[in-house]
Amino acid sequence: MKAWKKTSLLTTAILIVLLFAFIYLFKVNLSFTSSDIEFTPNTITNEIPSYQGEHPKNIIIFIVDGMGFGHLSLAIQTQRPENSPTIWEDFDVRGWHDPRSIYGSITDSEASATAMATGVSTNFGHIGIDKEGKVLTNLFEEASALNYSTGIVTDSYIWDGTPAAFVAHTRNEDDARDILTQIASSELDLIFGELEDVGEDDVPEVDESIAILKKRFFHLGKDLKLPDGNKYNQPVAVIFEEDEIQDLNSTPNLPKLTEVALKYMGAQNKPFALLVECEELDSASHENDSERVINGLKSIQETLALVLDFAKTNGETLVVFTSDHETGGLAAASDFGNYPNLQIRWSTKSHTAAVVPLFAVGPGAQNFVNVQRNYEIGQLLKSLLVQEKIDTD
Ligand SMILES: [Zn+2]
Repeated sequence: MKAWKKTSLLTTAILIVLLFAFIYLFKVNLSFTSSDIEFTPNTITNEIPSYQGEHPKNIIIFIVDGMGFGHLSLAIQTQRPENSPTIWEDFDVRGWHDPRSIYGSITDSEASATAMATGVSTNFGHIGIDKEGKVLTNLFEEASALNYSTGIVTDSYIWDGTPAAFVAHTRNEDDARDILTQIASSELDLIFGELEDVGEDDVPEVDESIAILKKRFFHLGKDLKLPDGNKYNQPVAVIFEEDEIQDLNSTPNLPKLTEVALKYMGAQNKPFALLVECEELDSASHENDSERVINGLKSIQETLALVLDFAKTNGETLVVFTSDHETGGLAAASDFGNYPNLQIRWSTKSHTAAVVPLFAVGPGAQNFVNVQRNYEIGQLLKSLLVQEKIDTD
């Protein structure tokens, strides 16, 4: 190499070192215009459309017990018609939350649903109470005090952890009679679900269960026909037998129950807060029953389509879709040499520490962009009600 070339290379190297030293010492901010950055499909753009007003009139919280991103991936892989958008793309906010309980990385439904209903993290088996047992005010109690209608639709038994967290305050779900009594003395306007373990310890017989509920609710027939005229404004309930509500093939199914609930809530001349729970996925995942999971996902997507349709037409409804925890450690996977055929793999028959989906659409959805923990959902939902109070005062 000629001497002048060596000198020039050395000078260039020294200049580069000096440049980086300058950047480091004086903290020069290197910035690029946004057009230089290539976004990956999962990048959150924070471009949430604006709705009529920032605050929703109505809130629908849809909780799927036991659903993680593995279940979601399976739904997208198995139930997406070729090249068509999925129902999940209708949500403007698509994020996640960590559902851990105050006890540690794992949660049960009682603790996670309580966090989402009250805004406070709590311990295993705690329904509507904090870790010391202190009663926590839930979303529905605050909503009722502000003259909202409130309702629960579940494909599980009505004293199950998730629905109970939105209406009762107790240590666990074993005392069904106590939770039923609390439901009957609450301000709840609608409850559709099942009975389970009838006649066992602290679980009343069917007749007694209905008698307790009748203290507050007009008991609908299993045909779900709503009362006419002035009775339309009175609280309504309907209860089915254990496992009577299953997937789309059962009568009734979750979409049908949700449709009737939306008809009832939408006809009230006031705002409403409605919980829709699908528990089917948790039971199926505890048994690692892949076929039952796929059927459950069909039911969830059909119910979701109905809910999103209502919200879109209504224009003043926030829909928050989430899960209380993941069950089964499900993965849609394939081995080398077996591509592209998918197999469903399970890693446990229990709950996992996985983060779970949190999706939102409608007025107020933008608040859910940065959620990290389950209790933040409860805090946000409550704060949206508070704003409603200020508006109406
Ligand atoms: Zn479970």
